[in-house]
Amino acid sequence: MAELIDGRSCAEELRTSVSDHVSDLKINHAITPGLAVVLVGEDPASQVYVRNKKKQTIETGMKSYDYHLDENVGERQLLDLIDELNSDPHVHGILVQLPLPDSIDSHAVINAIDPMKDVDGFHLRNVGLLSTGNANLVPCTPLGCMMLLKRTCEKLSGMNSVVVGRSNIVGKPMAALLLAENCTVTIGHSRTKNLPDVCREADILVAAVGRAEMITGEWVKPGAVVIDVGINRIDGKHGKTRLVGDVEFESVSMVASAITPVPGGVGPMTIACLLRNTVQAACAINNLPFNL
Ligand code: NDP
Repeated sequence: MAELIDGRSCAEELRTSVSDHVSDLKINHAITPGLAVVLVGEDPASQVYVRNKKKQTIETGMKSYDYHLDENVGERQLLDLIDELNSDPHVHGILVQLPLPDSIDSHAVINAIDPMKDVDGFHLRNVGLLSTGNANLVPCTPLGCMMLLKRTCEKLSGMNSVVVGRSNIVGKPMAALLLAENCTVTIGHSRTKNLPDVCREADILVAAVGRAEMITGEWVKPGAVVIDVGINRIDGKHGKTRLVGDVEFESVSMVASAITPVPGGVGPMTIACLLRNTVQAACAINNLPFNL
């Protein structure tokens, strides 16, 4: 039976380190890191994420600045807000909650963020730095996955890793991080032939697909480490719904050596890494060392 990789406790530890770093910045440098979160529209899932981000930002001693804009807001108005936040010295991190309404060009908005304040790591400059092996601000979910992998695997160098999913938010940056650790990396996607065979080659298997329980025990090499990024809501018992990953936990946990549960695996790490990135940005903007 696979070891459970406990994302909740790892996230808790990271938040404690973030809090300590924030205290040090306040006491020794009179800096309070500030995170601005911009939400457009009324998407209920986005509202829940934003609320959680705000709560945890405040709990770690940072300032939270929230902007909730009407879903009919014009792109120009949103870009003006980004400009304002870029030049606000109290704001060290800017996050625009995705997805944005179709009428707004998400790329234009993301690339308008000062790359030094791009705590999501989605700005083209930060994407370029990561893919050339000079990572600065790294997307939060893959960063969280990498932290979980580093505490689970004795060594990453030379390991065969397969990432299923090639989104800009998870799959591609995850692959870049694994490559930076000297893994041999394969990316699977919807056009990959014989995906189960490809997955069975993996010492490290990262699932970021968005298909409930797609990866079963038969796809997994005995002893592999499995990171399940997926969050899918499916029908459960008694008319209730429940959350499952992209991995079929029951069968895969019989084959893998270690696995992240859903919920309680990658999910909690994402916000903790956002807080970490905000402190990183605050330190970089003020030319101070950062080592979390
Ligand atoms: P996207 O929909 O952007 O990307 C999904 C990827 O999976 C695509 O590359 C797609 O391939 C691939 N894919 C889809 N169907 C198949 C299939 N049948 N076989 C092989 N590959 C397939 O999703 P995200 O990357 O944004 O998210 C992935 C999952 O991770 C979702 O469940 C999401 O909810 C979750 N997530 C969790 C987070 C967390 O904090 N834990 C944060 C972000 C996401 P192609 O490119 O060919 O279409």
